[in-house]
Amino acid sequence: MINHYDAIIVGTSFAGSFFLKRYLQHAPKTARVLVLERGQHDNKAWQLQNRRTSSIDIEDLYINNQPEKEWLVSAGFGGNSNCWWGGATRMMPGDFELQSRYGVGVDWPVKYDDLESYYGEVEEIMAISGPTDSPMPRSRPLPLPPHRFSDPDVLLKKTFPDGWYHSATVRATVPTGTRGVCCATGLCELCPTDAKFTIQNGLAYIYDDPRVTLLLQAEVEEVQKKGDIASGVSYIRKGRTESATADLVILAANAIFNPFILLRSGITHDRLGKGLHEQLPVDVCLNLDGVKAYNGSTSISGNGYLFYEGEHRRDYAACLIETWNSPFNYRRAALRTEQGRWTERAYLRFMFDDLPRDDNTVTISTTNPKLPVTNFHGYSDYAMRGMDQIPAMVDTLAKALPIEDIESISIGRTTAHIQGTAVMGNDSATSVVDRYLVHHQLRNLLVLGASAYPTASPAYPTVTISALSLWAADHLFAKESKNV
Ligand SMILES: Cc1cc2nc3c(=O)[nH]c(=O)nc-3n(C[C@H](O)[C@H](O)[C@H](O)COP(=O)(O)OP(=O)(O)OC[C@H]3O[C@@H](n4cnc5c(N)ncnc54)[C@H](O)[C@@H]3O)c2cc1C
Ligand code: SF4
Repeated sequence: MINHYDAIIVGTSFAGSFFLKRYLQHAPKTARVLVLERGQHDNKAWQLQNRRTSSIDIEDLYINNQPEKEWLVSAGFGGNSNCWWGGATRMMPGDFELQSRYGVGVDWPVKYDDLESYYGEVEEIMAISGPTDSPMPRSRPLPLPPHRFSDPDVLLKKTFPDGWYHSATVRATVPTGTRGVCCATGLCELCPTDAKFTIQNGLAYIYDDPRVTLLLQAEVEEVQKKGDIASGVSYIRKGRTESATADLVILAANAIFNPFILLRSGITHDRLGKGLHEQLPVDVCLNLDGVKAYNGSTSISGNGYLFYEGEHRRDYAACLIETWNSPFNYRRAALRTEQGRWTERAYLRFMFDDLPRDDNTVTISTTNPKLPVTNFHGYSDYAMRGMDQIPAMVDTLAKALPIEDIESISIGRTTAHIQGTAVMGNDSATSVVDRYLVHHQLRNLLVLGASAYPTASPAYPTVTISALSLWAADHLFAKESKNV
């Protein structure tokens, strides 16, 4: 049958592309994979000309019931890889074991050690730049040398050698062959020099494999099933409903659209759509006496781990700090007004892990069932207690920095990370997918990406998303080779 495939993958961003890459390494030459992507191939030239990364308006993708809270989505070939900022840290070991280490939240069904080698592979594929030392255990160094610190970073590293690090990032420090060198302009959503890793500049070649059929402008509506088997998908293309069948169906459409597609398909679960979350972002602007900032070599030059792992996680959220190294970042100017002292300021973002709340959800719109709705009622008390610690944290930073005063502390609208909503776990009663991201009921359906995250972690999510996709594809073939 011409419309039958070995696998159908929905989405062409990190989750889908890293899975596809590993799938193709394992699959026979005769394999047939259909990849369905709702958007177009809006290439870099188009993006720069139009000053946006997608030709689809975000309002046409989902309804946001609390617009003061942003969930950013860029639909098209490469998904949010086109607009991400490229922060590329691993999670810390404790992030996977919040309950057993600190009595808070839940443990992930995957541990740091399970993913360690996959992290290393992702770092190679993305050509990540970062510290030569490391806040977490690692079996191999990052492939690219670190960016230059800003002066505040230099002071913080000197005082807190085990607490402050060069940022791990896909904003390249040396040419990679397909990417130029990052020049700290801070326009990273577009990145005019193409210095940051995207699917378009780093993994597009996998879609040229003769085993792959990529259909653009194909919006998947439903996963079709027969009993407990996912039999295929239906999708809209050029105004017509089409369908295809497959032995394996993989959703990689992110934590808004994965649950939405499942809900529309009638593949329900008590947890599905609940627990939408990301980190609590708090912007802290500090005036410095005589120390000039913004002289590092990339938009975010340092990461602070001082308030990350530790017993405090029993009481309040862990925190990862970013040093913003761009005076005109995309939200606000971070310069002083006094003549000659414009850059005597440290602009830091504190990202606290959140504990997912059941009332933060993705649901189907009742007025337009073709669209999902995001409902966000606030962060957990655990995250807010973390934020309460900021004045004390600034006191600690003052051991390294000549802080005159705190100019402002404000909650940001987003970290642009979308997580939760189809969580992983060992118990099918309390989780949607298992530790290999296989759906608990439909065993030939995988749900990839950060929808599987049972808790937040203060770290950026995408290196872990990508590592989990490699891990899930490896498991699939290991299982097949054992014929279980
Ligand atoms: C401005 C911004 C900055 C960010 N910065 C960082 C950062 O510094 N570090 C970090 O780790 N993360 C960052 N992120 C988050 C990061 O982009 C996401 O974690 C990551 O892209 C998620 O990958 P994904 O493959 O799961 O989903 P996405 O990238 O969201 O891709 C989903 C794909 O599925 C497609 N799709 C959706 N629905 C359908 C459908 N029904 N049919 C067919 N196709 C469909 C989409 O078009 C898209 O291709 C940032 C995000 C934004 C917006
Ligand atoms: S700072 Fe400039 S060059 Fe570097 S990743 Fe951002 S936009 Fe690209």
